[in-house]
Amino acid sequence: MTAILIDGKRIADEIKREVRVATDALASRGLRRPGLAVVMVGEHPASQVYVRNKRRSCEEAGIISSAHDLPASISEAELLEIIGLLNNDGAIDGILVQLPLPQQIRSRAVIEAIDPAKDVDGFHPYNLGRLAQREPLLRPCTPYGVMRLLAASGINPAGMNAVVVGASNIVGRPMALELMLAGATVTVCHSRTRDLAVQVGRAELVVAAVGQPGMVRGEWIKPGAVVIDVGINRLPDGKLAGDVEFAPAAARAAWITPVPGGVGPMTVAMLMQNTLEAYQRRRSGVA
Ligand code: NDP
Repeated sequence: MTAILIDGKRIADEIKREVRVATDALASRGLRRPGLAVVMVGEHPASQVYVRNKRRSCEEAGIISSAHDLPASISEAELLEIIGLLNNDGAIDGILVQLPLPQQIRSRAVIEAIDPAKDVDGFHPYNLGRLAQREPLLRPCTPYGVMRLLAASGINPAGMNAVVVGASNIVGRPMALELMLAGATVTVCHSRTRDLAVQVGRAELVVAAVGQPGMVRGEWIKPGAVVIDVGINRLPDGKLAGDVEFAPAAARAAWITPVPGGVGPMTVAMLMQNTLEAYQRRRSGVA
């Protein structure tokens, strides 16, 4: 392996420590700590793991988390009513609704019901629109986390040829917007992209977010490229793997993120950061 490993766990721990310092400072001034409402509907096993993680991170970061574990049978109207209560709750700065939601509930309706000032996932069209217009407020956690990984590694995307593989609303698209904001020349690939190998092969920076283990082949990677693997895939043997074929990619790249321990921990750390930012903006009245 020639690539330098980007240690997301270490960088995420640092961010959580910084948030902790800030929240402890609030508490020592007699102010309330930031509050995050974590809403989970049903008992989706992967969601339970993510939600447990988020609650544990809140403890580490000195953020008060409130759990709203709701039955899978809840109606959309009932869920929207709970969101409305949380929007009006002065002790809640961030509202996170764990996706996916059961079929009877439209995710779009729920995301749009969250007060954009409390939208710590950064999925509300207002927040995505602000990012698209180069004036971001609350930013989607995973792409925001990738930008922090790059910054912490001293990698400036300005002027780079960046290729994002995957174009979902929660990762690929906002990732492309973040990279454009940072001055990269961005290509976004998706399921109908022709000749992915050629696209990836000219990238100085590749971000993979597809959800198919090893689909970005190591031999495609341009020598010296930066490779960020967002994918989290559970293999039949129970191990986790990214979307990039790790060993051959690491032999060509200059920098690479591992899975696990790369982007994953950053997503949760940025959720903590966003909750603190939402708190600070709400207190100062800046929208
Ligand atoms: P989605 O399934 O929502 O999106 C997948 C994207 O990949 C789509 O845009 C799709 O294209 C594209 N795609 C599918 N097949 C191909 C192909 N052959 N070539 C190029 N593009 C293709 O997934 P998510 O964005 O939600 O997640 C992607 C991965 O990231 C998953 O492994 C997920 O677990 C992981 N993830 C990790 C997080 C973290 O914290 N590290 C956070 C969130 C997700 P099209 O739009 O045309 O359908």
